[in-house]
Amino acid sequence: MHEENFASNYDIFTGKKKQTSSTLDEIHTGSLWETARLKYCGDDPDAFPLALICFYDKTNTDVFGSLSCAPFICTPSFLNQDCRNDDSNYMVLGYIPNLGFGKGKAKKQTSDMKLQDEHNCLSLITNQIIKIHNEGGFWTEVMGRRVCVKLWIHLIAGDTSGHNNIVGHMNGGCPKYIYPDCKCLFEDLSSPIANCHLITSEEIKQARLTNDGLTNLCKKNISNAFENVPFADQVYGLLGSVPAEMLHVSGTGLLKHMFGCLDGLIGGAKSKKRDKESFDDLHHCLVIKAERQCKHDFPCMSIRNGITDGTKMCGSERVGNCFVLLCVMHTHLGKELMANKMKQRKIPLKRFIECLKLYLAYERWVTEPHSRAQVRRSYKLLGELIKMIKQCFPREEGWGWNLPKMHAFAKMPSNILKFGSANNFSGNIGERALKGIVKDHADKTQRRPDKFAEQCAIRKYKRNVIKYVMTDMSNSIGASKSPAPRQNDMIEPRGRFTVHFSAMNNRGIGREEDKIVWHDKKREKMTFKVADLFLFAIRRFSHSHGYTDEFKVTGYTTFKVNNTSSEKTATYYATEYMNGEKRYDYAMIDFLSDDGLSATCPAMILGFLQYNITLGIPTPHFSDEEGQSLHTIQDNMAVDNNLYVVVHTTSDYVSIERFQNEFVSSFTLGDISNCVYIIKVEAIYGPLFVFQNYGSVGDEKNKLFCALPKSKWGKYFDDRIHSSL
Ligand SMILES: [Zn+2]
Repeated sequence: MHEENFASNYDIFTGKKKQTSSTLDEIHTGSLWETARLKYCGDDPDAFPLALICFYDKTNTDVFGSLSCAPFICTPSFLNQDCRNDDSNYMVLGYIPNLGFGKGKAKKQTSDMKLQDEHNCLSLITNQIIKIHNEGGFWTEVMGRRVCVKLWIHLIAGDTSGHNNIVGHMNGGCPKYIYPDCKCLFEDLSSPIANCHLITSEEIKQARLTNDGLTNLCKKNISNAFENVPFADQVYGLLGSVPAEMLHVSGTGLLKHMFGCLDGLIGGAKSKKRDKESFDDLHHCLVIKAERQCKHDFPCMSIRNGITDGTKMCGSERVGNCFVLLCVMHTHLGKELMANKMKQRKIPLKRFIECLKLYLAYERWVTEPHSRAQVRRSYKLLGELIKMIKQCFPREEGWGWNLPKMHAFAKMPSNILKFGSANNFSGNIGERALKGIVKDHADKTQRRPDKFAEQCAIRKYKRNVIKYVMTDMSNSIGASKSPAPRQNDMIEPRGRFTVHFSAMNNRGIGREEDKIVWHDKKREKMTFKVADLFLFAIRRFSHSHGYTDEFKVTGYTTFKVNNTSSEKTATYYATEYMNGEKRYDYAMIDFLSDDGLSATCPAMILGFLQYNITLGIPTPHFSDEEGQSLHTIQDNMAVDNNLYVVVHTTSDYVSIERFQNEFVSSFTLGDISNCVYIIKVEAIYGPLFVFQNYGSVGDEKNKLFCALPKSKWGKYFDDRIHSSL
């Protein structure tokens, strides 16, 4: 237990906030926390609140589905998000075996009986929690202080089917109440604002007393393993503790259906197949571009089957594809391919694009900390987004948009208010931990379906024993490891070469050709070139400052910024040859504009250099910043150790505010005589994903687009909340 691993602003002994704040992020900031703490700990000075964040899902280790089991795992809520993201902080409470194994199709067991079986297994776990609770907690020592640990389940994360099993919801056919925790009817499921009548624990209790009480609430009549478990939610109990999470609601849910609808929106009357192919090609092109340019700040994407076939992707890849779709919709070709069908269906392009922007922004927004008031205000804009999805992605098949996942989407702010940031109940983390927990051990079992869960459990137990002994020993022999020191900014240029500029005539033109010598022997052998514009900029700078003699500079093709803590980590390439083609990355550049204010604009990076070979020549630092005359510089003979970058910028500034507001901004690079500069690398604000206007002709062809990096998406939604009120 280390202080730095605890949730911020949280006192682990009292369970209270250290300072009052209305920001929703860690679990203890949700509205449910204080009621639970008050109920289980109250003012008892010895009480130590231990709320469990549980996760329950089935996991397969073979393709037949027989070697599977469902671990019930948990992690304490007092850890911060980073630690709860770490698999090693999860504890397995039990493994539920594959109960369907060996029963085949001819089984006599009804689905109710099967579920009862599962609950019988689960009750072995929950009974222990109930026992501890009934005995008033257990005594132990935490960081040298003797405390009585009070235990409760704060929430259970998982996917819809796992949740349905836990609460015993009827999920076959079309039950009256489709969503497990409320009494919303079929047609309410796609309503922009969820006005739910939630089912309370008391109602379930009353329903158990009558014959068809539970059936009327669309719940199976089983003895539920979670019946007497201490939950954080006092009013809604189990039903209030199974929040739907974004990965299953959005990634594998709504986005999948949205891409399904996309199919019907592409192509002309006669050329549908061909147009769809072009559309997929365009998407493919952009994905490759995006993946290459900015690995760090963009979601992963998939090109397996093209965008219109939404089946073979994982949830997070769909978010990436949604982003690429937004880019596609800005290009000339993309608009053209969709124009016909969108016109038929009366979908305005502007609304379609706004829908995608808001969707991406919302996806990110839910994982960020916000004030309680702001989350409450978000209902309205979210409702707008739901209306947009329904209009822009018309879905006729099946249930239309009356999907439980749509309802869960509308309820997301309620869950955030209750449990804090959506990361807290995200399935991502648990799912990953789950794989480790089962798959690490799967290899060391006999892989026999009937013994699989049991052998996994034994493996896990043995490993835990070894781990505890190890921790105990390492403490007494002083081998406990201290956390590694944080790395600071690491900046390194790569791909070194030397340029020898010949003396020039009075018009600034070199008398001989410039010589380039590569540090790397292979490159030297192949006589690699560098950008003409790069050489032009350096020569012009010297000439304009009165220096016409020969000189040498060191150049670099690659520049890497490593910053472990910030999003600035990036690699910038400026090279004539990379995987057989030219590659010049784009970046946002900070400029001091003419009126002395800081301004930004997108720029293409042409190369990096240092004036560290020939001394006594004008450099941007000596001449422009320090205002030294050529004479002084030649007298001083000082080394300029600054690393410079040569950039080709736009003719106009694109402010961060405008960029943030537009999500995707268009620009064109300015003319060479005015818009090529040598500036210090510190002026690079961040990498930029830039794509061209595919399929355009004439002047439009020079138009480029840049898209907002992922870390800024959430703010887009946040800004819209204010303007929607
Ligand atoms: Zn509802």
